[in-house]
Amino acid sequence: MSAPLPMISLRQVGKHFGPHRVLGDISLDVQAGEVVTLIGPSGSGKTTLLRCMNFLEAYDEGEVRIRGALLGWRDAGANRVRDTERGIAEVRAPLAMVFQQFNLWPHMSVLGNVMAPLTLAQGLTDAQARERALQALDRVGMAAKADAMPGQLSGGQQQRVGIARALAVQPQVMLLDEPTSALDPELVDEVLEVIQSLSREGMTMVMVTHEMSFAAGVSSRIVFMEQGRIVAVGSPDEIVRRPQHPRIQAFLQPWI
Ligand code: ADP
Repeated sequence: MSAPLPMISLRQVGKHFGPHRVLGDISLDVQAGEVVTLIGPSGSGKTTLLRCMNFLEAYDEGEVRIRGALLGWRDAGANRVRDTERGIAEVRAPLAMVFQQFNLWPHMSVLGNVMAPLTLAQGLTDAQARERALQALDRVGMAAKADAMPGQLSGGQQQRVGIARALAVQPQVMLLDEPTSALDPELVDEVLEVIQSLSREGMTMVMVTHEMSFAAGVSSRIVFMEQGRIVAVGSPDEIVRRPQHPRIQAFLQPWI
């Protein structure tokens, strides 16, 4: 039997902003059921890499494949042509993203926020979308706030709604970009608990976070990045608890 296709496969991915090369030679596979966490100093390219995984940023070297399908470009080679929006949407359909700043629509209720991608992008009827949205809100403990407006919620509650909105599209992989770094410290744990529960249910996730002890507890593998490169990939023990690499030791010093 052949090995299952990785959920996400990166091969020698590179990315420039103007003349500035912010990612280079990134190769990584994310298998079904894994929680892969990206850590590293500010500016090392973690968020950009996460955004290249769903083509919110257009990578310009190498390949990103989602379950084997090339994302963003029609041709993997040098003469690449950008895929159509529809083609891009199809390839990245298994992915959903959770943003640092929640990105909820302020004029829409909690329920409306979670329903919108279902009716707008997935073509569900209102009734179907409502049922699915309420289930997703229930999973993050926010069903009782379905009729509230985002502005009436704490940051932690808003982020749980952000996670529900991502869950409602029934993704196979969730990408989480610093999901707790906009939160007051006392609101971080409720969001981490939701992410922990998703990992226990087997959700595949790729996450950028500065919550090192949480990352060590929840991750299958941790990727340490510096200056747009992957320096090391390994288990939480190898990367966080007993790092051998001097650069990782130096980075982790504030947490020790
Ligand atoms: P990290 O998430 O590790 O803090 P980022 O991915 O945000 O790093 O940034 C990596 C590098 O890319 C940084 O040098 C940053 O200044 C630069 N960068 C990020 N986004 C943009 C952008 N939209 N335009 C130009 N440069 C950017």
